[in-house]
Amino acid sequence: MAWRDVMCGDLRADDAGRRITLAGWADTRRDHGGLVFVDLRDHTGKVQLVINPEHSAGAAETAHEIRNEFVLQATGEVVARAPELVNPNLPTGQIEVQVDELRVLSRSTPLPFQLDEENVEETIRLRYRWLDMRTDRMQRNLRLNHTAISAIRNVMDERGFVDVWTPSMTRGTPEGARDFLTPVRLQPGKFFALAQSPQLFKQLCMVGGIDRYYQIATCWRDEDLRADRQFEFRQLDLEMAFVEREDVLDVMEAAVVGAFEAVGKTAPARPFPRISYDEAMSKYGSDKPDLRFGMEIEDATEVTRGSQFGVFAAADVVRFIAAPRAFSRAELGRLEEVAREWGAKGLAYLVNDGGEVRSPIAKFLSEQELAALTPQPGHTALFAAADESTVSRVLGGLRLHIARELDLMETGEEIFHWVVDFPLFERDEDSGGWTFMHHAFTAAVAGDEEKIESDPGAVLGQHYDLIWNGWELGSGSLRIHDAEVQQSVFRAMGIPEEEQRSKFGYLLDALAMGAPPHGGFAMGIDRFIARMAGEPDIRQVIAFPKVASGADPLTGGPTPMPESVLKELGIRSIVDAPSA
Ligand code: ASP
Repeated sequence: MAWRDVMCGDLRADDAGRRITLAGWADTRRDHGGLVFVDLRDHTGKVQLVINPEHSAGAAETAHEIRNEFVLQATGEVVARAPELVNPNLPTGQIEVQVDELRVLSRSTPLPFQLDEENVEETIRLRYRWLDMRTDRMQRNLRLNHTAISAIRNVMDERGFVDVWTPSMTRGTPEGARDFLTPVRLQPGKFFALAQSPQLFKQLCMVGGIDRYYQIATCWRDEDLRADRQFEFRQLDLEMAFVEREDVLDVMEAAVVGAFEAVGKTAPARPFPRISYDEAMSKYGSDKPDLRFGMEIEDATEVTRGSQFGVFAAADVVRFIAAPRAFSRAELGRLEEVAREWGAKGLAYLVNDGGEVRSPIAKFLSEQELAALTPQPGHTALFAAADESTVSRVLGGLRLHIARELDLMETGEEIFHWVVDFPLFERDEDSGGWTFMHHAFTAAVAGDEEKIESDPGAVLGQHYDLIWNGWELGSGSLRIHDAEVQQSVFRAMGIPEEEQRSKFGYLLDALAMGAPPHGGFAMGIDRFIARMAGEPDIRQVIAFPKVASGADPLTGGPTPMPESVLKELGIRSIVDAPSA
């Protein structure tokens, strides 16, 4: 006999009269003295079982011992409920199953939490993830994850991409994070790094003639865990030969739209808007601007040249945002603190309170300045005056803070857009030298190669980022496919020849043996799915995630290792960890 011949959530009114067998979990049990009602649940939904001692004494006896989350098998007849007993909240609410055979397939100890309990502490949910997984929320999320990834795989397949597996254990793959290391017993004292991404392997695939590579790749980065960060995470990782930027963006847009359609959500319109890095920084003060609301940064440098207000007159740039609220003194005090956190020395403002201007600086401003800078009634102009990058940071930070406070973000719109034309290099705050903005393998725009070593700060990179509602979903670039150019980038970053050879010799060799022009992208799958599922963090869409401390509440990892194991690996611990 089969364990089941129909799923719990599939029964409807026109099944009445059928004799069926179901298997699933006891969601709830209500014992009415004689009659026992059990809601039986599987991943498709719930159905009500009725166990009547007059109908089946054996089943009734079994029913009395049932507790929540026992696994049951029930056979009986589907019967229509009387009109007054129909449950309109349940898709199966028009019927119930009159049980004549009932078997307990598996019991459950008392539960650490009830499945319908709210606000269960997350470590408890993760410790008993198999229970948590039975909730609607986790069922929905893990299935949505599957549906979206299948759709993405279809898009890749249709476009001729080849899924190539790349190693997890490798030499460091520089993405700017710390590596996780793996000792190698056969090579005592030596370590593999776990791949931070398949970046160099996918480039080698292009040199190897694969032409279109993709992978739902697991990546490892030793960074502090956050809402959108785990030690290990997945990327839709792809690389294409003989392409321009637009070809890569086109595939990524198709993948995003394919996933949206597959999960039944309205897909964002294509092509996704593109804005340059410069525009993003100057208008929104961020390289991943949230475009769901306006409050764009406006320039006041010209108008305030020669201002009587010394702070404005002396600053490199003066810019402002006009927030849609006439803020009170107390609110402005709090905003000034936010501005200081972002690096401002103070916060100048002009409040237009129904036509009347409130501002300590108004008396220093000329009529012309006031005419240009006073916001509409009911608005406040907030100013930053400093060097350009400080001004962007401060106003970008204020813009997001105010949007959150005034509830301007959740417009219901899903805005995907690209940020393009990033600088190739930025200053490394620690060393003061140049470092990459994306990674060391991104190509400069045509014509800028000559400046790589002579004027690194002026070189534009062929780097692009995908942003969803102010969240960075991923990055990509057209790559360097010439060993000489690659070496000039290494030199600009101050990497000596010897280190170039020892770390990246294999890449330089490959680039010197017929490397096609190529480019690619990687999108954080967990972030993407979490957003789609409307979840606040990626742990909710990952089956077995870790918590912020880096521990896994389920298995209890990480654990110390016995001396003997470490010794075999050629390792001695210098930390007094509790012994294994
Ligand atoms: N390897 C990059 C990353 O993981 C993405 C890319 O350039 O394709 O962010």
